[in-house]
Amino acid sequence: MENQFDTHEVFNQPPVYDHVNLYETDAPLKAALAAEGAGWAAMDLNRFGAQLGTAEAFHQAHLANTRLPELNTFDTQGHRQDTVEFHPAYHHFMDMSKRAGIHCGAFDGLATDGREKGLGVGAARAAKHYMMSQVEAGHICPITMTHAAIPALQNQPDLFARLLPKLISHTYDPTFRPISDKSGITIGMGMTEKQGGTDVRANTTVAEPVENGGAGQPYLITGHKWFMSAPMCDAFLVLAQTGNALSVFFVPRFRADGSVNGLRFQRLKNKLGNKSNASSEVEFHKAEGVLIGSEGRGIANIMTMANYTRLDCALGSAGLMRQALSRAVHHARYRTVFQKKLIDQPMMTALLADMSLEVAAATHLSIRLAGAYERMDDPMNAAYARLMTPVTKYWVTKRGPSLGYEAMECLGGNGYVEDGVLARIYRELPVNSIWEGSGSVMCLDLMRVAMRERESLEAGIGWLSEVKGASSQYDDALADLTDNIAGGLNEARGRWLTERLATLASAKLLMERAPGTVAEGYISTRLDPFGRHGAYGSLPDGLDARAIIEAVVAF
Ligand SMILES: Cc1cc2nc3c(=O)[nH]c(=O)nc-3n(C[C@H](O)[C@H](O)[C@H](O)COP(=O)(O)OP(=O)(O)OC[C@H]3O[C@@H](n4cnc5c(N)ncnc54)[C@H](O)[C@@H]3O)c2cc1C
Repeated sequence: MENQFDTHEVFNQPPVYDHVNLYETDAPLKAALAAEGAGWAAMDLNRFGAQLGTAEAFHQAHLANTRLPELNTFDTQGHRQDTVEFHPAYHHFMDMSKRAGIHCGAFDGLATDGREKGLGVGAARAAKHYMMSQVEAGHICPITMTHAAIPALQNQPDLFARLLPKLISHTYDPTFRPISDKSGITIGMGMTEKQGGTDVRANTTVAEPVENGGAGQPYLITGHKWFMSAPMCDAFLVLAQTGNALSVFFVPRFRADGSVNGLRFQRLKNKLGNKSNASSEVEFHKAEGVLIGSEGRGIANIMTMANYTRLDCALGSAGLMRQALSRAVHHARYRTVFQKKLIDQPMMTALLADMSLEVAAATHLSIRLAGAYERMDDPMNAAYARLMTPVTKYWVTKRGPSLGYEAMECLGGNGYVEDGVLARIYRELPVNSIWEGSGSVMCLDLMRVAMRERESLEAGIGWLSEVKGASSQYDDALADLTDNIAGGLNEARGRWLTERLATLASAKLLMERAPGTVAEGYISTRLDPFGRHGAYGSLPDGLDARAIIEAVVAF
């Protein structure tokens, strides 16, 4: 009777999406992890996936994204305060991600407390990131930046040794206190200025040495950053000019003497999505910072951080795409239109199957990249990471928004309404392509590899050639790629080359790691010489669409 209104009964609406184990139901994720040596993490990931896939977790995420962070510039007496207040739901997810070690998991080998180490730690940590992104993506920003700061901070060993226990602590400590008083810390990054984000050489922020300067020495930083996310981080890696040389500084919220450092937040950005995360505009008023590495090594040192954040952009988008698909399939299983469940309407089956192919590819590409990052001492994996970081970041994040949009449309009008999750996912997806190196910037990076670091490109072609002979369509696409490379490359072809490498790498991974029907479906749609892949849902005859969906979304 509770569904009884005065005028009508509520029926033909799907049940609430609840008690879904985000790990257990995800066959591509499990296969990718097994291939990357992270099978041992299954129990932990199973627990985490169950914890995340509840109606309550999704409700908390809704709260975090509707009760938005507020900037407190001044206290009631008019003193500068420069703090940001978040809803408890945001802290809930920060706490959960920290406990799960998403902010440091790939570096657990650095821990000295007997924590799990060894093969697969990076992939297992990536899986947690991917699952968490499905539920609450905004807070992942400081989690990701903290993770990515770890290798960058290693460029200043004395500072790194002091910070290490707090960087890898699984305790979330949101208090606004000096790092020395805290049980766990988070790190942000400040690169982008008004006149240039991609072109950081245009930075005008300056750093002056307090004494003689040099690696590990204090400097005073003056200038601004136009975007600096997660302003309640305990410290930031900040780019600033020393003379003519761009350098990177560790800038904590408190000075060495315990007073509040000279960071003045101007306002928070009013963003399309990514609402639970605060992104600030900030000025530095002689803010105290410590030089990391030597002067002039700013870009090289910050790139160490940026590459790890690029990996996480791909993982985040893959997770969001996965959640969008799961919601669309859930809806289609229960919604009847014209006397048939939507999932059994042939055109809907084809659409969901095509989306499943995309999600399977995104999952495999992202987890493979995470696996490569944890084996960088192996030349093949190092070459893979160099070549495939821009490719994976570009391709997965580019495919996200259109997939999110299709998933939203699968729910009809309900998809477009903010009460559900799809509208938020749709608004969240584009940011992963924009930040940490926008789309074309990734392709330029790939072109640098292709034109100047030929050994990584050749290693990649060698890797793609390992499965030659298994599919004539794949072989033709690979031959076309190598012919084009031999014919000479130019910058204008950057997106073409990136896309070709992405689809071939996806096809290879699916041939090796996914059921035959999924690999066949992907190759016949994405490596089609006539470029038939426009909107989702245009499958050639002869594919078992239902089997593809079931191979990707267990139900
Ligand atoms: C929500 C959000 C949070 C952010 N948080 C942070 C943060 O915490 N810290 C931080 O430092 N930054 C942050 N950023 C900034 C972000 O990293 C930059 O916006 C991004 O790097 C692009 O820089 P830009 O905005 O200056 O654009 P531009 O550099 O002006 O680029 C504009 C467009 O031109 C393209 N382009 C650039 N060069 C070329 C070329 N040679 N050929 C072809 N196309 C080109 C780019 O791909 C892009 O599409 C954030 C941004 C957003 C949206």
